[in-house]
Amino acid sequence: MEVDERYKILFEPLKIGPVVAPNRFYQVPHCNGMGYRDVTSMAALRAIKAEGGWGVVCTEQVEIHHTSEITPYIELRIWDDKDLPVLSRITNAVHTHGSLAGIELAYNGMNAPNLYSREVPLGPSDLPTYTFSNEPVQARAMTKRDITNLRRWHRNAALRSKAAGFDIVYVYGAHGLGAPQHFLSRRYNQRTDEYGGSLKNRARLLIELIEDTKEAVGDTCAVACRIGVDELLGEEGIHREEMLELFNEIGELPDLWDLTLCSWDIDSRTSRFGEEGHQEPFVTGFKQLTSKPVVGVGRFTSPDAMVSQIRRGVLDLIGAARPSIADPFLPKKIAEDRLEDIRECIGCNICVSGDMTMSPIRCTQNPTMGEEWRKGWHPEKIHGKGKSESVLIIGGGPAGMECARALGRRGYQVTLAEKNKELGGRVTQESRLPGLSAWNRVLDYRLGQIRQMDNVETYLGSEVTVEDILEFGSEHVVLATGSRWRNDGVGRHHLIPQKFPEANTYTPDDIFAGRLPSGKVVIYDDDHFYLGGVLAELCQKNGCEVTLVTPAALVSSWTVHTLEQEMIEADLLKKGIRIVTRHVVHPGKILIPESEPYAVHIYTKEVKILECDALVLVTARLPNAGLESALEQVRDSWDDAGIKSVTRIGDSLAPATIAAAVYSGHRYARELDEEIDPDEVPFERELTAIAPEPDWKTFW
Ligand code: ADP
Ligand code: SF4
Repeated sequence: MEVDERYKILFEPLKIGPVVAPNRFYQVPHCNGMGYRDVTSMAALRAIKAEGGWGVVCTEQVEIHHTSEITPYIELRIWDDKDLPVLSRITNAVHTHGSLAGIELAYNGMNAPNLYSREVPLGPSDLPTYTFSNEPVQARAMTKRDITNLRRWHRNAALRSKAAGFDIVYVYGAHGLGAPQHFLSRRYNQRTDEYGGSLKNRARLLIELIEDTKEAVGDTCAVACRIGVDELLGEEGIHREEMLELFNEIGELPDLWDLTLCSWDIDSRTSRFGEEGHQEPFVTGFKQLTSKPVVGVGRFTSPDAMVSQIRRGVLDLIGAARPSIADPFLPKKIAEDRLEDIRECIGCNICVSGDMTMSPIRCTQNPTMGEEWRKGWHPEKIHGKGKSESVLIIGGGPAGMECARALGRRGYQVTLAEKNKELGGRVTQESRLPGLSAWNRVLDYRLGQIRQMDNVETYLGSEVTVEDILEFGSEHVVLATGSRWRNDGVGRHHLIPQKFPEANTYTPDDIFAGRLPSGKVVIYDDDHFYLGGVLAELCQKNGCEVTLVTPAALVSSWTVHTLEQEMIEADLLKKGIRIVTRHVVHPGKILIPESEPYAVHIYTKEVKILECDALVLVTARLPNAGLESALEQVRDSWDDAGIKSVTRIGDSLAPATIAAAVYSGHRYARELDEEIDPDEVPFERELTAIAPEPDWKTFW
């Protein structure tokens, strides 16, 4: 099929130094929580991207030397030749589909606490290490000898990259993670020698590393430089004017520029804090200072936005991490004019949380992400149906919809019944809250897919009862009925139900149903993800005076893993929302307003009376399991009704993230009619090869 005229430019090849990218789709380096621990899983993930049409597929950051490693985070390593088989596995996987393989060589320096190697971290100056967890470790200022060593280590890593078959070799100075960026930034670089002071001096290490890499491997490999162009701190940090000045000097030095913002959180903003293409004002203008190709990101999922970036001279290559995770086949779908099949990234950063929690990557939109090898799940292919014929799914939230979509693709006769007049469940409700509108894409994609299938029927406005189920007579019944928020305060801190007065107590479900609090509102957040903060924002928007109370030390504390926590707290404070941390809310003498609820400090037990007109409890949820117990009671009638199984999935099994609900629905669909042995580990594992056994008697 001919590519649509409008999008042809996206499929034009582009020369990058000595190599040629087959098209403009460039999967920039991204972490995945797998790295050296789950090698084949990670190689499979890269292979799928290549198969899906990404012309360039890069690794995550690859630590070049044991003096700079970021344990506990799990990335790749290229410390010595022992790492080569791992790296070749990636290049083989990527090359199978004709894409170029890129490697991001990283020397984290003062960002590497070296908890594993126990080496003293090296940085431009004597300063505390710059890490997520404030390890009590300082970096020492590098001597000239250290710099010479670093240059040699980087060169060795480049040579090994070439030996492993990489086509593009990076020098990494971005996201606050690479040593060249620390040298560039006047905040970290307090040196008085030729590596400190003027811009030229601060850029010296970066320039040397690019030159060394070109000299070592530039004959056959393209040398890319990933650079942070703004720390968003004005003149105190790296900023636009000085980077433009630098580009004027060294614009022609590497074969490719990969532009980012300086810290990962501001670069990989969630949709709550940044639109598609939010980096544009920062990266604009650099391309005009170099003849070399420029790649940049922007959570691009729309081909029109991509084309516009190229036509307006902002970028040459469309960089993507998250859009390629949510839909590894995005380029192919554009090529085949199947735009309605694109699973658009929702910008939730659940993918990032994999890396941050050192667990394999997962994605809200793409339930196969991270499961390509260990479960053999392909994002676009699914096996045909088994011996059963029909499935009734009750509940059209993310779990029910994904289940219907995937079962439909397998060829089952699927009925999806939803009691509301619209599909989407919690996704529909939550996407109406401030900042979460992009989450509706979870619904949009699935609705679009279901509509294409004749074998999936949807009934809206139908609250299904046990009688309906027995009458309907489907072989398999899936309960995807979701969950409801508790109104008794039980969560992580109260484990015994509390009596909060009904008249003035609200749950998120009340708010979704349009029962809105007014006046002075206390939000009690013992859930710790995004919802407490978002509801605080909503109430404030509605004119309430809002106080957010949480037992945690931070507001929305789990959002540290989605890189949002600081932005959320800053935003709430700027909006005038009062924040009280480390406090648990109690009902008071039960009746508001006669007596107020109070908050108790979790350590000192000091009591704060909360003057409020309304209390919103965001604590925990209860699975909606009623239909299952009711069906259990009529088990004798199942045979007559033709029912072979009843299964709860998603939040109705155990409330969790939207990503977990989608995964749960997908998993059910994959496993229907399959023999699953509950005693077997249900996925492949890769175990580190153990060293030959020492002779314990003589070893020491
Ligand atoms: P999940 O995240 O597991 O998909 P949601 O709470 O988002 O769960 O969705 C559950 C959906 O199930 C909601 O849209 C709800 O209206 C629907 N639902 C709950 N009980 C019934 C029922 N008895 N009949 C039909 N739909 C139901
Ligand atoms: Fe996008 Fe969320 Fe998937 Fe990450 S997890 S790729 S942000 S949809």
